[in-house]
Amino acid sequence: MLQGRMMDRPLLIIDILKHAADAFPAVEVVSRTVEGPVHRYGYADAYRRVARLAHALKQLGVEEGDRVATVAWNTYRHFELYYGVSGVGAVCHTINPRLFEDQLEYIVNHAGDRAVFVDADLVPLAEKMAARFGCVEHWVVMTDRERMPETTLPGALCYEELLADKPETYDWPELDERAAAAMCYTSGTTGNPKGALYHHRSTVLHALGLLAAGVVPLRQGSVVMPAVPMFHVQAWGQPYAAPIAGAKIVLPGRKLDGGSLRELMEAEGVTVTLGVPTVWLGLLAHLRETGGTLTTLKHLMSGGSAAPVSMVRAYEEEFGVAVSQGWGMTETSPVCACGADGPRMDAARGDARYALKLKQRRLFGVEFRLVGDDGEPAPLDGESQGELQCRGPWVVGGYYDDEAATADAMTGDGWFRTGDVASIDGEAMLQIADRTKDLIKSGGEWISSIDLENEAMSHPEVAEAAAIAMPHPRWQERPMLVVAPRKGASPTADDIRGHLEGRVARWWMPDDIVFVDELPHTATGKVSKLRLRERFGNRVPPAARTLPSETEPWTSITPTR
Ligand code: AMP
Repeated sequence: MLQGRMMDRPLLIIDILKHAADAFPAVEVVSRTVEGPVHRYGYADAYRRVARLAHALKQLGVEEGDRVATVAWNTYRHFELYYGVSGVGAVCHTINPRLFEDQLEYIVNHAGDRAVFVDADLVPLAEKMAARFGCVEHWVVMTDRERMPETTLPGALCYEELLADKPETYDWPELDERAAAAMCYTSGTTGNPKGALYHHRSTVLHALGLLAAGVVPLRQGSVVMPAVPMFHVQAWGQPYAAPIAGAKIVLPGRKLDGGSLRELMEAEGVTVTLGVPTVWLGLLAHLRETGGTLTTLKHLMSGGSAAPVSMVRAYEEEFGVAVSQGWGMTETSPVCACGADGPRMDAARGDARYALKLKQRRLFGVEFRLVGDDGEPAPLDGESQGELQCRGPWVVGGYYDDEAATADAMTGDGWFRTGDVASIDGEAMLQIADRTKDLIKSGGEWISSIDLENEAMSHPEVAEAAAIAMPHPRWQERPMLVVAPRKGASPTADDIRGHLEGRVARWWMPDDIVFVDELPHTATGKVSKLRLRERFGNRVPPAARTLPSETEPWTSITPTR
């Protein structure tokens, strides 16, 4: 082999912030703090504080490879931990405080976290859990001395005190770019949570991949607000992508309700934002109720679960905000596909445009394939469906210290099994049909819960809807729809059914429609099908009022979309 004559410089996370400090020293990181007031400083200040933090971590005895946990909202101190912890060669393990206590106990002990950095308002949770976190040696409350709460946390330290007397420069180690840098557990519906362990290289390449694809348009002058929590898959890479691009970053703290988000967006001139559909549905409801507008926001990315078309349309047509949809997983850093912008989108009008909005183009660096029930590759024709498998430099090659889960997730030839069912067209555009376990199998044929929900949510009186399977003696499973009406509206089951008629195949028509005030959500803000199944999954379907006749063969009925 003829070796290239290029330098072998590692891709390291701390170099992102160093670059921003040099090139964009005054570009701001703005946070709504947990304590209330808005805090702001430039990337150069952030870099100096991260150096202080690195000294503090060394003082605590944190060594390369050690796991350091954060239990925190989106603020500048959390941002500093992203860089400081990975910068000294340790692993920043972001923890979702909304998980069940047993999951928290498992995650912290499985990761073997040596230190926990916790936001002041989450101290009561930490106190409750402390005795169950056997491995934790240090507790650091992310606040200053004045606001330091009374606490029973053993030897609790104050973040600002810890940083106060430390130097503003740090001699960053030249780490191997494959050294672990960050960690996030994903909690499936069965089994223990599983740890994705990102390295410096995967994190930097993911951030560059986001920027290359223009997943969200970031450059100097852009103002990005990750409305996705920083404990959820590294806030989808924004704390890394924004400093590379020189964009201002706005961290919304704890409050992700529509009113709080809009206020901060308007005050800080946010141009781009990212989050899960539940957050965007909340903001939409707020805007409609208050008659509010979004005067600076140009682009909204929705990901984490399927974006309802009606929501995409509302943002675009009522508020002039371009929406794109991203696909990703904790295991894939997360973003692997996003948006479908380009000449095809420019040319598309009306329904065709919104149908295209449901698709996402694969990012450079990631590869996709579809595998059918028979284990054979499914054609990439935009129609055929199969399990989505992927590989790439920011996709997990296995889980942290969990060989059984790794064996389940990885194929023999090194691809990651996503558990999503999808189609892909001839232009690498992905369309997710469902999670494998959420598909509804009726008479041997699949019904996509996402498609059904999408149609239900296009009813003007529906705020959110979820479709789950109910057992059926003849058809094995039939769909039921759980609907949360919009505030002040009270649609009937017949209204919904009338609306669905002609929009979905007759055999997709839900056998049962129930109404709830609000759908249950998971710790990351997605609709919890698990809790819906627990509550409704064993309902006996009402008389087979919507079933086709005995003689009608299921397979001959093609869905109308
Ligand atoms: P998590 O690891 O918690 O981020 O969840 C990953 C899962 O979220 C994926 O496997 C998908 O099932 C779902 N998901 C993420 N993005 C989308 C999307 N754009 N459309 C539909 N489902 C999505």
